[in-house]
Amino acid sequence: MSEKKMSVTVLLPAGRLSRDILAKIYTFVDKYGLELYCSTMQNIRLLDVPESKVQEIKDELIPLGADFKGPGKFPTPRVCVGKPHCNLGLIDITVLNKAIADRFAERQNVKAKFKISLAACPLGCSGSKLTDIAVVATKKGFELFAGGRGGPFPKIGRRYLRGATEAEILDAIGALVDFHDLKTVKKQRMYKLLDDAEFPLTEV
Ligand code: SF4
Repeated sequence: MSEKKMSVTVLLPAGRLSRDILAKIYTFVDKYGLELYCSTMQNIRLLDVPESKVQEIKDELIPLGADFKGPGKFPTPRVCVGKPHCNLGLIDITVLNKAIADRFAERQNVKAKFKISLAACPLGCSGSKLTDIAVVATKKGFELFAGGRGGPFPKIGRRYLRGATEAEILDAIGALVDFHDLKTVKKQRMYKLLDDAEFPLTEV
């Protein structure tokens, strides 16, 4: 009987892939004949990994700084490419991405299933208004949206902050995630909480 095939999903903070991780992934692709899937969710997935090789691959990638998708992790934001790689970019989106990663790095047992997106201008190429929590850079500071979702029945997120600072954005994300945790048994999209009387933010 042929061995079961698995996938290994490597997270790509701000969509960036380091040279060392890229080179190591290539060795696995070459060695095991893998396929790679670059997803829209800021990760790269190694497909068709023989089950017996999963741990070996992880063990070799971890020392290079790789992190992996897994239950209970704070979501890796989906980001646009931002300044200076896009002419319309107002900010270097990696800075905000890192601020979020640093602020929520210690959070564990985060309940599914909400996503975060970041955009460096109001065009929102990362799907800002179709994401549970979205931050958009404008010329007058940040805007924060909540409650968007894609899929077969899309919903447009509502705006809860405008002209906000990075610190205000981090606090608001913290409040939303705390509220989601409080009101969620196992998993829940953010839009279901917007009309709760205790929702922590006010629409603007
Ligand atoms: S959201 Fe704006 S800055 Fe980001 S990729 Fe799209 S157009 Fe460029």
